[in-house]
Amino acid sequence: MGTITSADLIAMLSAIADTMDENRDALCALDGEIGDGDHGVAMALGFNAARDALADLEADAVPTQVLNTAAKAFLSGVGASCGPLYATAMMRAAAAVKGQDVLSSEDGSKLVAAMAEGIAHRGKASVGDKTMLDVWHPAAEAATEGGWSAAIKAAEDAAEGTKMMQAKLGRAARLGERSLGHMDPGAASAVLVIKAMASTLG
Ligand SMILES: [Mg+2]
Repeated sequence: MGTITSADLIAMLSAIADTMDENRDALCALDGEIGDGDHGVAMALGFNAARDALADLEADAVPTQVLNTAAKAFLSGVGASCGPLYATAMMRAAAAVKGQDVLSSEDGSKLVAAMAEGIAHRGKASVGDKTMLDVWHPAAEAATEGGWSAAIKAAEDAAEGTKMMQAKLGRAARLGERSLGHMDPGAASAVLVIKAMASTLG
């Protein structure tokens, strides 16, 4: 059975920062269609802040410390609406593995589920509102039932599905029906986060 160590979680957060750097412009372009065009910048800023903060962490830090450190750095690094959402997601993930020095590979799905709960709690969105929750919620269920490959498939399908949704929250909601046909940028970045988690923990 594989295990997940603090070093693996640090590698995971670094991989998320890499994918946000690579996709920053594409995410901003998506956000520009229905929002204010800053989503890629915000996500890249937040996960790079998390990576930088983790570089200063003591070598014997346990998983819950890694995730809490990343959460705090993300929150202070990002002014956009995704700041408190991902900070809460990572704080919930930290709480879910509290007291564990090393995680089992099955705990990976526990992290996804905790992040989805945090986003649902903090964002006050419902499934179908065309937000990142529309990816996190089904991905968490799929991860719990079928592991990482199921989570990725569910996330990709769900992000595609946001094109058929009318935005109910945030700036995009002002567009009404004109938000139809566009993928939610938060849903798109959620797929990237989940894929980076799968590639490093799976
Ligand atoms: Mg925006």
